[in-house]
Amino acid sequence: MSSLALVLACGPGEVRSESLTDARPLDIAGGAKPVDPRPSTARLASELRSIEERSDGAVELSRIGDSNEKRPIWSARVGHGPIRILYVTQQHGNEPLGTPAALEFLRKVGIGADPWQTWLRKRVTVDIVVRANADGFERNWRYNYAPDANPEYGERGKGYDINRYHNPGISPEENPATEAAHIQRHYAAFDPVIVVDYHMQGRYFDPSGREITASVMWPTHPDTKPDDVAFAKQIAVIVQQSMAAAGGNVSQYPGGDYEGIARNAYGLRGAGSVLVELSAMDSAREQDQIRSALASMMAIAHTAAKGQIDEIDPARADQIPPRGSVLLRVYDADSDD
Ligand SMILES: [Zn+2]
Repeated sequence: MSSLALVLACGPGEVRSESLTDARPLDIAGGAKPVDPRPSTARLASELRSIEERSDGAVELSRIGDSNEKRPIWSARVGHGPIRILYVTQQHGNEPLGTPAALEFLRKVGIGADPWQTWLRKRVTVDIVVRANADGFERNWRYNYAPDANPEYGERGKGYDINRYHNPGISPEENPATEAAHIQRHYAAFDPVIVVDYHMQGRYFDPSGREITASVMWPTHPDTKPDDVAFAKQIAVIVQQSMAAAGGNVSQYPGGDYEGIARNAYGLRGAGSVLVELSAMDSAREQDQIRSALASMMAIAHTAAKGQIDEIDPARADQIPPRGSVLLRVYDADSDD
């Protein structure tokens, strides 16, 4: 599979050769060995430490804070370039597959020093909050763990919906959702130009009857600056193209306008902010879904490093089809982003 690099760099129908000095085919859709789709909390920590160790300084692991039950919330940073990109996985504990994709991204970009890796790491700094909701993962539920809370967004007796507490007007100090406060602080310190938040959704058809493998959306809060929406749409096109090249079928995501949703909050704060929702397909398709998420992570970083995001027409995002009818409802009906 070598079409992905071409797809990233080009519009539909165009073919442009990659320069051998600054890129290599992103051979990620085939031949990869299966990965653990749901690494335990301990396994995740040991995998991250192992990647850091083997990266010879290219990957730096830090603990941006603890969950309410004192599980570490990890950030792993790779590269040292001027273009800063933040990926977040698993804000909802029962939406796991962005996390193994993040581990594979860190391995592929961080371990080794071939010309492409060296080139990429010189141009971008990619920081990943890996499994933002460690307590929710332990319980296989959406919320964090705050059983005494009576949250406006969340569930009494369980906890807060972390992805409703990124409001630009709420300071980390007054934020009741612990993990959202950690991400807010991390965002402010890192100051990324791109933020991509990885979630999971149920199963849907597109209007032609083919199954959707993922959905994507940009900020929809009406106060988001038009330039920031346009930039997010360009990133959404990269997601759609890269996932399609890896065999996926991407729709728009019908998300809400609430400013506490990370997609909206970080857009309002001026980042190119995008939501990716991987469909919860059956277990036989999980490795494909992980590779598809990985393909999007690689494509965003690669296209940003090449300085080619601005070449994408944002109007192409509007041509991504809407999500169609339900095949299987996997998550609560009120789940959104
Ligand atoms: Zn979610």
